[in-house]
Amino acid sequence: MVARIIPVDPFDLVIFGGTGDLARRKIYPGLYQRMKAGQMPAEARIVGAARSEHDDEEFRGIVRDALIEFVPEKDIDSETLEAFLACLSYEAVDARGDAGWEELKGHIRDGVVHAFYFSVAPSLFGDLAERLHTYGMAGDGCRIVVEKPFGHDLASAKELNATLEKHFSEEQIYRIDHYLGKETVQNLMAVRFGNVLFEPLWNAQYVDHIQITVAETVGVGGRGEYYDRSGAMRDMVQNHLMQLLCLIAMEPPSRFGSDEVRDEKLKVIRALEPVQPHHIIRGQYEAKGDEPDFREDAGDPRSRTESFIALRLAISNWRWAGTPFYLRTGKKLKARTSEIAVVFKDAPHSIFDETGKSHRNILTIRLQPNEGMELCVTIKEPGPGGMRLVDVPLDMTFADALGPDGADIPEAYERLIMDVIRGNQTLFMRGDEVEAAWAWTDPLIAGWEARNDVPKPYEPGSSGPEDALMLMHRDGRKWREIKA
Ligand code: NAP
Repeated sequence: MVARIIPVDPFDLVIFGGTGDLARRKIYPGLYQRMKAGQMPAEARIVGAARSEHDDEEFRGIVRDALIEFVPEKDIDSETLEAFLACLSYEAVDARGDAGWEELKGHIRDGVVHAFYFSVAPSLFGDLAERLHTYGMAGDGCRIVVEKPFGHDLASAKELNATLEKHFSEEQIYRIDHYLGKETVQNLMAVRFGNVLFEPLWNAQYVDHIQITVAETVGVGGRGEYYDRSGAMRDMVQNHLMQLLCLIAMEPPSRFGSDEVRDEKLKVIRALEPVQPHHIIRGQYEAKGDEPDFREDAGDPRSRTESFIALRLAISNWRWAGTPFYLRTGKKLKARTSEIAVVFKDAPHSIFDETGKSHRNILTIRLQPNEGMELCVTIKEPGPGGMRLVDVPLDMTFADALGPDGADIPEAYERLIMDVIRGNQTLFMRGDEVEAAWAWTDPLIAGWEARNDVPKPYEPGSSGPEDALMLMHRDGRKWREIKA
């Protein structure tokens, strides 16, 4: 199946933090892939901006090295590479000073889309917004892209929204959560709202429970100090897992428009019930072999920050009353995997003589690895000798189902940056959504701090602390195995 590529309008994209890790690992490789796919027009211009002094040629060298390191070798071709590098220029700019800003303005052309990517520390977002305004680059049609973390709590998120909104309207602000750019996540909406098959069953009457797992095998490594101030709740649950939960649980929007989708997501967050303390399990990985424990990685022997969290959530509305949502995420777990599993209820009555056996339909949406979906259905075990039932998966790995081109599933950043240029905010978080997510998160964190909760230790390479398993066992359910 050959993907239909619609080129975007010509644009000027300024990447503040243009020499940083995110720009090199995700932004330039994403743009390169879009150029290779024919979506980025030849008239597009990309301007890297950071404090360090580089001329255009040095900067192109930095980006060339990044592409060679982070784009799969099979996708590098010299013609596209040279064409891409020819679109680049660099300006030394300090977010906190006035040097370079007039020169930066000189790069901005009339008659094209203007986008400014804030790929710098969040503490600089306000300075960038202010100076874009001062130097006359914050015109009506321009867009700004802001990276996570968007605030540390409700108060800081509100402050950040207020700072950005001084010079930019909500329609100009693109808050990135790269999980929303993942092809499977968008497919979740296509499967729910493009088929008649699932939606009638998508409620508490037929769904026993939903599990969302985002497991990583790496520890906090070099990010220990930063991570110690955030933890799994702030770093993963408040944003990524919350977004997945919203897409799974939301009502069908009237159309696939940015406000319609985001209105429905917001309603889900607002319908979340407060979480009981015994429905929150936090963990910290232990040491193993030469590898230090979390506290050593975090640089604080008394740290109570969680590197793992599991939660049981409830949504109080007609659709979901009575269906629990179990969420878990953590570092140094058994395998690197992200999936959502919708576990349907047992058939109300079994006509087969299989006492005590439960066969369940499970729809699994895999975000990584091997993006795809799998529907587990019950069939007859082949062969003579009676009617024995067996559960088998109907597998729809996108790469297999969509043929050779399907194997090249675009990276989240590719899709999201093109959406910025197209002016489509559907897959970006709106200000009120972010604030609602923090308004739900803050009391949970305050609660465990007030209780002096100490995270439970867990062995690296495991599925997390024993208590997290018990969270489901107590309800007569079990987590799906964490496997790659
Ligand atoms: P980084 O590697 O530390 O890069 C920071 C960039 O900002 C560099 O280009 C730096 O260049 C520039 N910079 C620093 N101070 C500046 C100033 N005063 N004025 C202008 N430019 C300045 O950081 P990063 O990992 O790329 O992260 C960037 C943002 O993305 C952060 O908000 C981070 O939380 C977010 N993020 C990153 C990742 C990731 O995987 N890296 C993932 C998700 C979100 P100079 O020192 O030359 O100025």
